[in-house]
Amino acid sequence: MRILVVEDEVELASYLKRGLEREGFVVDVAGDGELGLQMATTNTYNAVVLDIMLPKLNGYRVCAELRAQSNWVPILMLTAKDGEYDEAEALDTGADDYLRKPFSFVVLVAHLRALMRRGAGSRPAVLSLGDLVLDPAKRQFTVDGEPVALTPTEMSIMELFMRHPGDVVSKTEILESCWDWAYEGDVNIVEVYIRYLRKKIDVPYARKHIETVRGAGYRLVEHRG
Ligand code: CA
Repeated sequence: MRILVVEDEVELASYLKRGLEREGFVVDVAGDGELGLQMATTNTYNAVVLDIMLPKLNGYRVCAELRAQSNWVPILMLTAKDGEYDEAEALDTGADDYLRKPFSFVVLVAHLRALMRRGAGSRPAVLSLGDLVLDPAKRQFTVDGEPVALTPTEMSIMELFMRHPGDVVSKTEILESCWDWAYEGDVNIVEVYIRYLRKKIDVPYARKHIETVRGAGYRLVEHRG
């Protein structure tokens, strides 16, 4: 089992290397994001331990770049700040798991072993319906093969629609799966976002992908390019 540790704090990196080697792993260390990306691209690892704050290329970007190359090596991100934002972003850019610094070595090893058991095989498939294609792992969305930039919320709504093609999805369902549980505003915020989406994916293509089903919600309709 070979592990890549991408960490610029020299002491932490060598502590991790020694500790993981004692656990029987083969360990490579990269001291910056660029080198980490290069090593993860050239060699095959069973897992990558990736710090976020790194010189040259930060951990989010290393992770996003690997996923963009369809490299699904299990990635455990080390988050330094104690913000949930960090962790959400780590998972958003394609990390499989995260650990908040400072962490205990035993917990790190447990997380790594769990990740490696799960392996690199279980990735969300690309969703497509007619002229629409959404890649949940890369967070990419295209209409007629043309990339369309969606905000994270717009992306979640499209993902929900595309996982239920042809079904009526209610505003409440959209709100519950695409907004934070702490959101206590008006359910009509959904309408606002549907309008944004229509401006991006319907108006420029003169198509009606998102149909309003009066009193029930919305339905995604298939169009061919
Ligand atoms: Ca760092």
